[in-house]
Amino acid sequence: MTDSATDAVGGLNDVLDRIASAAKLAGRDSGEVTLVAVSKTFDADAIRPVLEAGHRVFGENRVQEAQGKWPGLKDEFGGVELHLIGPLQSNKTKEAVALFDVIESVDREKIAKTLAQEIDRFTSETDKPAPRLLVQVNTGAEPQKAGVLPEETKDFVTRCREVHGLDIEGLMCIPPFDEPPGPHFALLAKLAGELDLKTISMGMSGDFEDAVMLGATHVRVGSAIFGARPKPA
Ligand SMILES: *Cc1c(COP(=O)(O)O)cnc(C)c1O
Repeated sequence: MTDSATDAVGGLNDVLDRIASAAKLAGRDSGEVTLVAVSKTFDADAIRPVLEAGHRVFGENRVQEAQGKWPGLKDEFGGVELHLIGPLQSNKTKEAVALFDVIESVDREKIAKTLAQEIDRFTSETDKPAPRLLVQVNTGAEPQKAGVLPEETKDFVTRCREVHGLDIEGLMCIPPFDEPPGPHFALLAKLAGELDLKTISMGMSGDFEDAVMLGATHVRVGSAIFGARPKPA
C-alpha cells in the first residue's frame, strides 16, 4: 500500500472513532450514524483501500465524475451505497438514478418532476430499487447555494410526495462556510422532526461531531479521510 492509502484507512478509523465518541457523549447509539465517505476528486486507486477496509458508504458531488469510477468499483466490491451530495441537473437525472443509491440534493420542482419520471422508467425497466431521496435545505438562505428555504421545506416535501409521488426520506444541509454550524444543524433536525423524516444528513470534516451531537443520522466526511483535495470541488 502507498502512504496515502494507509493514510486514508487511518483517517477512516479515526473518523469512525470520533463519531462513536460524539454519539456516546450525546447518549446516542453510534449505529444510528452512518459515515458517508466523500471521495470526490479522488480516483479509484485512492478509494479502493477504504473499500478493502470494509467501508461501503460513499459520496460524490458530480454525476459525470462518479460515472467514471463507481461502476467499476461497484462491480469489484459488493454492497456499495453511493450518495449524490452535489447539485443535480435535469439532463443528468437519468444517469444519476441509475448510478446512485441515495440522492441527497433534491432541491426544486423541476428536478422532482424529472426524478419522478426517470425513477418510474428505471424501476419498470430494471429490477433495481429506486434511489432513496433527501431534500436539500438552504438553512442559511444563501443566494448562491442550492436547496429550498427552511420556510418552504414543508410545502416542497409535501409537493414531492403528493404531486410527484416521490418518497422523501429525509433532509440534508450545507451550512454557510463562515458561520458556526450548530444553529443550522439544530434547524435541520427541527424541520426533520416536524415532518417526521427519519434521515438527517449534516456535518463535514470540520464539524461532524457537532452534527452527531445535534442528531445527524448521516455525516459526509471527505478530507478528514482522504486528505486535502488538490483544488476546491
Ligand atoms: C465535499 C463535500 C463534503 C465533504 O467535505 P469535507 O470538508 O472534505 O469533509 C460534504 N458535503 C458536501 C455536499 C460536499 O460537497
